Amino acid sequence: MIEIDGSEGEGGGQVLRTSLALSVITRQPFRLFNIRAGREKPGLGQQHLACVRAAQQVSNAAVTGDEIGSRDLAFAPQGIYPGKHRFSVGSAGSASLVLQTVLYPLLHAAGESHVSIEGGTHNAWAPPLDFLQHAFLPLVGRAGIQMDLWAERLGFFPAGGGEIHARIQPWAVRERLKLHERGSVTLAAVAYVANLPENVGERELGIIGRALNVSDLRQERPGGLGPGNAVCVFARGGHATEVVTAFGKRGKAAETVAKEAVREMKAYLKSGAPVGEYLADQLLLPLALGAGGSFITLKPTLHTTTNMATIGRFVDVEIDVAEHQGLWCVTVAPKEK
Ligand code: ATP
Repeated sequence: MIEIDGSEGEGGGQVLRTSLALSVITRQPFRLFNIRAGREKPGLGQQHLACVRAAQQVSNAAVTGDEIGSRDLAFAPQGIYPGKHRFSVGSAGSASLVLQTVLYPLLHAAGESHVSIEGGTHNAWAPPLDFLQHAFLPLVGRAGIQMDLWAERLGFFPAGGGEIHARIQPWAVRERLKLHERGSVTLAAVAYVANLPENVGERELGIIGRALNVSDLRQERPGGLGPGNAVCVFARGGHATEVVTAFGKRGKAAETVAKEAVREMKAYLKSGAPVGEYLADQLLLPLALGAGGSFITLKPTLHTTTNMATIGRFVDVEIDVAEHQGLWCVTVAPKEK
């Protein structure tokens, strides 16, 4: 049984998701204690419990401590079971984080899987659907991961009610991923405005268009539960796409939302790095489980270094971080199995 202290490093939810995925793949049981000790409201939240349940379902695991508020979880997987799986976050919690928890186990299964997940599709503190589709999937696709991802319905904070679907193929050919260049970039933006006045999106896109000199601007008006608003700005480079997202909420002006997205995109463009900070932590698992590789990014966040440490508890991999012309090069080298 691998024993993990959840208070180490960032002390957040990522250590749980990474441990669940790697436990199933490597068939090693684990115990996680001090769960999310670094967060204001420690222990398992609804979102984290949904990830535990999803990992349990695909692995038929024996689990103890799986309740809201729990700070101690034990998880012992029995296998990997592909096929049809349906999960629900049971709140506006992120469907993407549930997907990223079961994706890696199902890539190691003997057959294809079709996963559907009810929850939020555009949540703060989680990868929005646009990010998964345009930034994450094309890159992991180059590492040999084949997944189709689409939304039946979008779901925004606070009501949620979205539904995503993923068709996941067993990971047949593992390719090394090298991402050192960004290539020339073109920008685009989309404003999602659900059950709110159209001028919210118009104001957001107006600011983004002027500040970033973008003309490819689109407003989408999904239906669904409750009001919701998010803006995504895309930087499509020759070798990678970055997606930054800002989220609206009650009492926050459309102008503030747009300016947040502009600020984040300007910082990305100025950095020159092909891989942004979120993508950096999300590429570690596919590289560690695949054929490895390297990428240039910003200074790794505590989230990223914590994720590196968790990966090292389950798999034999060398992860090296080195300064590289004002940026950082992360190299992931799995040891021969
Ligand atoms: P907790 O739930 O305990 O607060 P957590 O680990 O679940 O912590 P975060 O540390 O915020 O939550 O990270 C969640 C994941 O979502 C990370 O992999 C991060 O890269 C990703 N993420 C967060 N915000 C974005 C964003 N705007 N775009 C893309 N990915 C994001």
